[in-house]
Amino acid sequence: MSGVIKVLKLDGGPDRRGLDRGRALVAGGAGFLGSHLSERLLADGYEVIALDNFHTGKRYNLAGIARDASFTCIRHDIVDELPADFAVDEIYNLACPASPPHYQADPIHTFKTSVLGSINLLELARRHNAKIFQASTSEVYGDPLVHPQPEGYFGNVNTHGPRSCYDEGKRSAETLFFDYSRTYGIDVRVARIFNTYGPRMQPDDGRVVSNFVVQALRGDDITVYGNGTQTRSFCYVDDLVEGFIRLMNTPAAPQHPVNLGNPVEFTIMELAELVVDYTNSPSRIVHRPLPVDDPRQRKPDISYARQYLGWEPKVALSEGLARTTAHFDALLGGRRFVAPR
Ligand code: NAD
Ligand code: UDP
Repeated sequence: MSGVIKVLKLDGGPDRRGLDRGRALVAGGAGFLGSHLSERLLADGYEVIALDNFHTGKRYNLAGIARDASFTCIRHDIVDELPADFAVDEIYNLACPASPPHYQADPIHTFKTSVLGSINLLELARRHNAKIFQASTSEVYGDPLVHPQPEGYFGNVNTHGPRSCYDEGKRSAETLFFDYSRTYGIDVRVARIFNTYGPRMQPDDGRVVSNFVVQALRGDDITVYGNGTQTRSFCYVDDLVEGFIRLMNTPAAPQHPVNLGNPVEFTIMELAELVVDYTNSPSRIVHRPLPVDDPRQRKPDISYARQYLGWEPKVALSEGLARTTAHFDALLGGRRFVAPR
């Protein structure tokens, strides 16, 4: 069901439209990344319309901007026809559950979100000659056989496993974006995002950083899946949002997806030990079965972003974990069992 859940144009909050950067639509704007991006766009002088079905997004993610005169949030599922023919200058498509437990809960809807949702937004871009950004993912590389992963690597993805709804949905969306660009001349920007973390991840999100930090703060067992030798490279949310803005605003649209992520690689066991150490937690590290098709290694080659966007991450994992722990600490309130050092 669609509906405007808040339009506050008359009272409270700064109106920055004097800066006149135009109107941006952020699909998935109530989510972890979408809420940070919406905040950044408002600060940069855009009017922002967030579209979200609130599957994993939360109203309280928008608490800091809900009263901003230039912000509107509309409850809407992008699989369905858009509730209005919004006149927009820029579109950011971040709508899609990103955590394996969430995207696997309704895999057909996840796939539709990437495919039908992208078509709905691409058609909107086409009608208004708007620039459009797609949040793609390092999951398009699957369980990569090339390491680190450059954009030219085509990936190693299972087409019919439990992760396929997400991986293949995102791969199909990339195809759609570049076909719309070639067919209709639309300006598309596609980012392949590697594991990103930070404040506003949900405590029950299911991804590794939020799981480990919440488990450590609660004094619960820290659940390492498999033997923990699989690797990931963790990017702090502010760094990623800066990458989004640079990719969207670079004058010549790259004619291919662009990797955005932090190239410093950790094993999952190293991450668990870091979190235990940082939070001074009494938690034990325990092992649970490795999920099917869990990629064994992942690290972005960000040469393109460095050279053409002048972008690279600045926030080290230790600093990002400190900020993320502070977020979960506040969220858990009195239910927290251990104190940070
Ligand atoms: P998230 O789950 O916090 O945010 C996704 C948002 O999209 C939520 O607000 C959710 O309610 C909304 N949504 C989901 N399906 C929708 C639909 N059909 N219609 C409208 N809204 C819908 O996850 P996130 O980490 O903020 O991810 C944002 C985007 O970035 C996703 O597209 C994800 O695939 C991509 N991405 C994220 C990461 C990461 O590490 N955070 C990595 C790779 C790609
Ligand atoms: N993981 C883990 N314990 C958890 C959650 C995840 O060991 O409680 C592992 C997971 O198996 C994977 C890595 O951490 O190897 C990253 O998982 P996440 O779901 O965060 O992201 P993705 O697998 O999509 O990269």
